[in-house]
Amino acid sequence: MKYISTRDKSKNFEFKDVFIKGLADDGGLFISETLHKYTKSEIDDFKELSYSQLAKKIIHPFIGNFTSEDELSKIIEKSYSVFRKDNVVELIKVGDRSVLELFHGPTLAFKDIAMQLLGNFYEHYLNNSNKKINIVVATSGDTGAAAIDAIRGKKNLNIFVLHPHNRISRIQRKLMTTGKDENVFNIAVKGNFDDCQNLVKSMFSDKEFSNQINMSGVNSINWARIIAQSVYYFYCYFLVEDQKQPVNFSVPTGNFGDIYAGYLAKKLGLPINKLIVATNQNDILHRAISEGKYEATNVLETISPSMDIQIASNFERLIYDLNEHDSSQTLDDMKNIKQNGQYIINDEKLKKINRDFLSARMSEQETLNVIKNTYEKFNIVLDPHTAIGFGAFDKLNLNGNNIVLATAHPCKFPDAILKAINLKSDLPEELRFILDEKENYAIIANNLKKIKQYILGKS
Ligand SMILES: *Cc1c(COP(=O)(O)O)cnc(C)c1O
Repeated sequence: MKYISTRDKSKNFEFKDVFIKGLADDGGLFISETLHKYTKSEIDDFKELSYSQLAKKIIHPFIGNFTSEDELSKIIEKSYSVFRKDNVVELIKVGDRSVLELFHGPTLAFKDIAMQLLGNFYEHYLNNSNKKINIVVATSGDTGAAAIDAIRGKKNLNIFVLHPHNRISRIQRKLMTTGKDENVFNIAVKGNFDDCQNLVKSMFSDKEFSNQINMSGVNSINWARIIAQSVYYFYCYFLVEDQKQPVNFSVPTGNFGDIYAGYLAKKLGLPINKLIVATNQNDILHRAISEGKYEATNVLETISPSMDIQIASNFERLIYDLNEHDSSQTLDDMKNIKQNGQYIINDEKLKKINRDFLSARMSEQETLNVIKNTYEKFNIVLDPHTAIGFGAFDKLNLNGNNIVLATAHPCKFPDAILKAINLKSDLPEELRFILDEKENYAIIANNLKKIKQYILGKS
């Protein structure tokens, strides 16, 4: 499979480039030039597969000769052996809808599902070369922990994680900072998440620096993460009771990553009816999809911090589709967004979007109410992100199988849970030890030069 950049389709890339670089040099996002659409009977043949077998089927065509088929199977088995469920995810019934629990990995958020695989992809890649790679990533809390767990202890790999000082939950921080591996470096930046993200972007675009340390990125625009995430949409489809009824997924989203994976599954032929973009008050995607206006405003702090984002990086992949794969038009649109801070979606394009996507926004109080109601009615505790996905269905009235992606375990956000239902949400038994472990992280000013110096000193 060949890949191109959304901003210039004249050059081809292999999966290896796409995975290691993350972002194209022209600033665009990598996307596969073509897709194989599975027929209904091909999809039916996936029905009996285990999660890992299914993952191999879906992922293999995307990675070409990056690994042999056999090696890919081993990598996938290894990646998913660390999950607390045999088949990685679990679908539970909650009232008139279903909840797909994606948080049974080592760091209790859906990001483990893609990140564990990426960690083992790096290991495989480095086994066949004598390079050393430094991963640098910004996190609003969950990406960092998932990336650290996937990379820790691996040979010829370092990971540097920038998080906003005092702006992530205590549990999120402990999951990142209590490890003892010598290749993990946590940096608390005196600033917000956008500052962290901008620091990482600046380091990437400084070619001298990024080449010097062989810098690589694992944020949510990485195509390898997207393909790994599309697998659970397929797996879940076979778990629904009545496949004759439409299947809708509601996805709490910030960066348009997880929901884009669902869109990819649909483009691969999975009969998904609607994908629902569920946002918190940082609702740029809701405004884009319901009113046709993609326009960034200030980031608000919410009880669902992993979605406190204003620039939905993966949205560019949808813009490329709306432009009917015209990469120079996409380049113009992205320049425009950068200059004017907005992108107006015309009626024709909006209609096209709404064939696949609907959206809803949840206020803080509505989110707390969902947590309270689902607990009182069904004795189920939803994390605040999942509650946003759950509540989105109440605003849209769709028939059929309504599935909510549960993106995190509630214990990661104890303050919100306490506020909603006055309950302490405990860590799973096997993770409780982190509460007493010593934490280790550097606190550094929001200053590019200082951060670079720190990284150079450790890499
Ligand atoms: C990262 C994250 C999200 C948002 O994922 P996107 O890829 O930005 O759509 C939602 N919920 C939780 C718990 C997360 O960690």
